[in-house]
Amino acid sequence: MLSELPTCPGLFYGSSAQDGMLARMRIPGGILTDRQCDAIADLADQSGAGYVQVTNRANVQIREIHTPITPDVFHRLQTLELAAQTISLDPIRNIMASPTAGIDSQMLIDTRPLVKALDDYLQTHPKLAALSPKFSVCFDGGEWVSVRDRRNDIGLVAHRLPSSEIGFRVCLNVEAHNSGDVGVFVSENQCLAFIAALTQVYLDYTQGYYSGKGRKPRFRHLLASWDVESCLERVEHLLGFSLRREASLLRSSPQSYNHLGIHPQRQTGLSYLGIAVPLGRLESWQLRNLAKLTRQNSGTLRLTPWQTILFPDVADDRLGNLEGAIADLGFHTSATHFESALVACSGRKGCASGLTDTQTQALGLVELTAHLDQPLNIHFSGCEKSCAQQTPSDIALVGIEMKAGNSTIEGYDVYVGTRDSSFGRRIRSVSALEVTSLIKQMLQIYQQQRMLDESFKMFVDRHSMDQLQQWFSSKNNQYLTSHSITG
Ligand code: SF4
Repeated sequence: MLSELPTCPGLFYGSSAQDGMLARMRIPGGILTDRQCDAIADLADQSGAGYVQVTNRANVQIREIHTPITPDVFHRLQTLELAAQTISLDPIRNIMASPTAGIDSQMLIDTRPLVKALDDYLQTHPKLAALSPKFSVCFDGGEWVSVRDRRNDIGLVAHRLPSSEIGFRVCLNVEAHNSGDVGVFVSENQCLAFIAALTQVYLDYTQGYYSGKGRKPRFRHLLASWDVESCLERVEHLLGFSLRREASLLRSSPQSYNHLGIHPQRQTGLSYLGIAVPLGRLESWQLRNLAKLTRQNSGTLRLTPWQTILFPDVADDRLGNLEGAIADLGFHTSATHFESALVACSGRKGCASGLTDTQTQALGLVELTAHLDQPLNIHFSGCEKSCAQQTPSDIALVGIEMKAGNSTIEGYDVYVGTRDSSFGRRIRSVSALEVTSLIKQMLQIYQQQRMLDESFKMFVDRHSMDQLQQWFSSKNNQYLTSHSITG
């Protein structure tokens, strides 16, 4: 059992990829128990290729499925709340929340009960299966590890008013460059009823405009057709009270912080440990051992939208031992480790739109083993849709097809910094085979030409296009022979 659906994959409905079927499990808020980890590891071994991937919505993806998932296994996953009880609701999108919900020292509202309550609502309203599977909701409780710049249809962002009252600002159609703040403030008690009413408005729109063929309308189509104000009026009508209007305050501001390594929790004596997972890939034996380690703490771990893992609730006197055990499993916790720099979408092997094998080519960079003294972000995208990361990167590689004589080969458009487009400034194209040497060249030049403590982004943003193109051209790769990457 595992039928194919040509839209977003779920668990009961996978999608076919070059390397086999791909199934996705939604993990509300990214929180997993030790028993859930064991069941996922078993599934990856029995039906997949013995590994899973953490996605940028903190889902779990099982790749290379060649052995059908049996009804018994589906039943076990349902019992553990890893699979929908109503199969038609299976492909619905994961509810996103900050991975430090409930433990972050800056938090204004603990969003974990809200995530659970909304998930219960979604799971018990089969009519919602009519909505686009891309419909997405996010809670940001005001944590330092913020998720408010993640792409979502509805974002509830915790906020303290000048009167000291705390509630949520309503953000719609959130993008990295658009906070989506529509100037509405809802209390914690009102927010679920608000989401349910807005979901009903979206359902009304979908049922009125969808003929049953082709793709279901996205939430952004609703906002474009009925406009935000008229949607909010319909919500008020359903709620039976007026929404509280406040001036739009939130500006788009891609968040900058580093959640890897050790960080104190709001609970005295406890810390969380952020663990890097190269391209979000976890072998089943690693997942089982992580589950075992959680049993000495709260028995849970958290998946993040940055394809990493947080280990919460570690007693401070156990941190040293835990770090050692994590290292023994092949993980590290440093933001300046080169593996932490890499982000890649599924690419050609896992996605029909992919022009390049992003995963293999990104992992090829690991051979550089460069020591970085500042965190870096290198984003491989198999096409311009940029599914893996919506926020600006230091270096973005966007898949293209290139001509090489009479044949077509894989290549990338290379962008740097934050200017010009969402990917940055396009400096050149490069064949997939030359990516590693170009990145090496770029890092060498950055390390030798930068001002003291200047980040890569600041470095490229302050130089002209002509200068960057001259430095990063193929003619200038004598750097490769005359210099080595240093710390
Ligand atoms: S960015 Fe393009 S290739 Fe990558 S997963 Fe999205 S659609 Fe597929």
